[in-house]
Amino acid sequence: MRSRPSAFLLRARLVRGPHGWYDRGAVVVERGRVAWLGPADRVASTGLQVKDLGDCALVRGFVNAHAHLDLTGVQTSEREFAPWVRAMVAARRSRGPAEVAQAWRAGERSLLAGGCTTSADIDGGDQADVAWTAQPTQLRVLSFVELLDGRDPRRLAGQLARLRASCAVRQHGRWRRALSPHAPHTVSAPLLRAAARAGTRLQVHCAETEAEVQWLLEGTGPLRDLLPASPRQGPLEVLHRAGVLQRGTTLVHANALDPARDGARLARLGVSVVHCPGTHAWFGRAPFPLAAWRAQGVRVVLGTDSAASNERLDCRHEAALALDRLRVAPSEVLDMLGDAAEEALGRPFGWTGLRVGARADCAAHATSLQGEAALEEVLRGARPVLGSWIAGRETLPFGPD
Ligand SMILES: [Zn+2]
Repeated sequence: MRSRPSAFLLRARLVRGPHGWYDRGAVVVERGRVAWLGPADRVASTGLQVKDLGDCALVRGFVNAHAHLDLTGVQTSEREFAPWVRAMVAARRSRGPAEVAQAWRAGERSLLAGGCTTSADIDGGDQADVAWTAQPTQLRVLSFVELLDGRDPRRLAGQLARLRASCAVRQHGRWRRALSPHAPHTVSAPLLRAAARAGTRLQVHCAETEAEVQWLLEGTGPLRDLLPASPRQGPLEVLHRAGVLQRGTTLVHANALDPARDGARLARLGVSVVHCPGTHAWFGRAPFPLAAWRAQGVRVVLGTDSAASNERLDCRHEAALALDRLRVAPSEVLDMLGDAAEEALGRPFGWTGLRVGARADCAAHATSLQGEAALEEVLRGARPVLGSWIAGRETLPFGPD
């Protein structure tokens, strides 16, 4: 990483502030935070190191609300959910720790190259030793240690040990620890309760498919022979009874929940939904009911999920799908990959991005357009960003092509 002067100024043709673009804008960064932003001709640059980024757009770093970086490079053409899950389990078993770490780094690079600066990530290993993830990361990472006992009492003690080990180190550099009890149908009530009491942020895969809900409610369907006795409760009931539905909990997918029935409850509890447009498209799922969730006051944010169920591991791919399939405006997409995502995740790093006082996390994107068309071009971008900064530190070297 590059050294960081205590105060410097970034200039670009476009700078995206909280309320829109500044043409010929500037950002003053002091000790890693945004000290000022606005039109470049209104700031005195005396005494500041100035970096002129030229004809590009400087935009806040994207916040990816759900990923599995350790699955980067795991490829399958499978588009049916159950065989896809089996392919992932087999891939996980076939790899050693060095390969997993390498895959993780490849995923980190891919997200950075797409302008992402913070990512939630599921640490999907099975071992109690979770130390390897406590390595220095370039991205800001909210690492959710996955807990999964398959509702099998013989596996509970091992998973509780993993939970305890993961709580021993809560933060390290750009990395924060959290917990992900896998899903209401795959985690026993005692393990869910232990996660809920751990005093950390929680992320849960919830109601990704109808089969999951069918088994939870009735004990029937394709999961009948894979799991023990059904609790005969819906997914939210299972999570609520265990105390998992806390303020700051994020539910990933939620495809088989009903916004009209479940939305008001989630909104009241401060629980957000993470939608992963790339995965949704991969499995050919029915249109995601964004408007219905929003009508109930539920915050919906975006995640890349893993590269194994996606065409690209890049927040801009999710943004492009959101623009096309969810029919939301570019500024709303930026919020779903920005402030709203930070809020949903419980602001693990405080505020980041381009607003006064925030940690100066941003990226320079190529665009030749103006106004909202420029933002749309940024969000649909496919080439690596020109450069990125995390806490004002140049993380991807700026190099216009
Ligand atoms: Zn996932």
